[in-house]
Amino acid sequence: MKVIAYGAHAGDKPLEPLQITRRDPGAHDVQIDIAYCGVCHSDLHQVRDEWGGTHYPCVPGHEIVGRVSAVGAHVTDFKVGDLVGVGCIVDSCKHCEECDEGLENYCDGMIGTYNFPTPDAPGWTQGGYSQKIVVHERYALRIRHPEEQLAAVAPLLCAGITLYSPLRHWNAGPGKKVGIVGIGGLGHMGVKLAHAMGAHVVAFTTSESKRDAAKALGADEVVVSRNAEEMAAHTKSFDLIVSTVAVSHNLDPFLALLKRDGTLTLVGAPATPHPSPEVFNLIFKRRSLAGSMIGGIPETQEMLDFCAEHGIVSDIELIRFDEINGAYERLLKGDVKYRFVIDNATLAA
Ligand code: NAP
Ligand code: ZN
Repeated sequence: MKVIAYGAHAGDKPLEPLQITRRDPGAHDVQIDIAYCGVCHSDLHQVRDEWGGTHYPCVPGHEIVGRVSAVGAHVTDFKVGDLVGVGCIVDSCKHCEECDEGLENYCDGMIGTYNFPTPDAPGWTQGGYSQKIVVHERYALRIRHPEEQLAAVAPLLCAGITLYSPLRHWNAGPGKKVGIVGIGGLGHMGVKLAHAMGAHVVAFTTSESKRDAAKALGADEVVVSRNAEEMAAHTKSFDLIVSTVAVSHNLDPFLALLKRDGTLTLVGAPATPHPSPEVFNLIFKRRSLAGSMIGGIPETQEMLDFCAEHGIVSDIELIRFDEINGAYERLLKGDVKYRFVIDNATLAA
């Protein structure tokens, strides 16, 4: 079936309306009418080919929420009308150790929601800046938030799980001091989630203007990271710091804030590598430098249910599709509190 989408024909071209083809739902597929789609910084990296290997036309978007509009004959968990989400994963091999453990995000055969190979036309996946998507039921998530919150739930599908997973893996909770670096789409979810998990949360921002705003999100303390004195006050005190920064930067000032056995986990995916950290910053306190990528499907469901139970959604700015190119420019300036979400109804308008 043909659906309207928004995408780019080249890395240096703006996004514009275009038509794409979705497969008809197979026996295990659900077809979703997309209501809203969040705007992740990864969308911008991909559309502008900052990581290399982008296929065009590129239709990004992996923070998808909407309603099931058709199901295949063998689908048992979902029915027409259900509120569902799709995140960054639309397929995986389904039989490796990672898939068996529900860690589809680490399956070598993981198929991302955009720019990954697929037998469907045009040969690579196309994301949520579109009217409909069709996915295998395994990769659809149930949304238990009230429907009025649907637009603000969308960013949980990537920003939410990308912070929830490392916070759980490195045991954020009562008695733990946790830092979140970069208070953008991912980072603001990190502050909310770590706070809800009971950790002592410190938000690190380069933007003086976010100092009060970060407190309102649930940060116990806010540090403007360009201020060396403020940074020094937290030396050797953190159990875990998660960095969401989307550009290459010096990691040493953050490693120095970890206590013995502390971990700095990188989730930001800049186009150019960070300079290698000073090795003694790791050796002296047995510190770890780690990375983490989104989360598996069961953990994404767990995160959505945790957020529904704790009343957690993203702070969003709702936009129309014809505002997307301007939104990308603002994203690059850190000028959004904290996530753009597109109203997919504006595709048809
Ligand atoms: P975003 O909304 O643009 O947030 C990034 C934040 O980083 C900004 O709001 C800003 O926060 C901070 N920042 C920007 N420039 C900086 C600089 N020069 N120095 C220090 N801090 C700076 O982006 P996002 O959507 O949260 O995504 C963040 C990164 O994570 C992207 O690279 C994205 O591709 C990646 N990502 C990774 C995964 C994964 O699975 N690992 C998943 C999704 C996204 P302040 O204003 O507070 O400083
Ligand atoms: Zn994302």
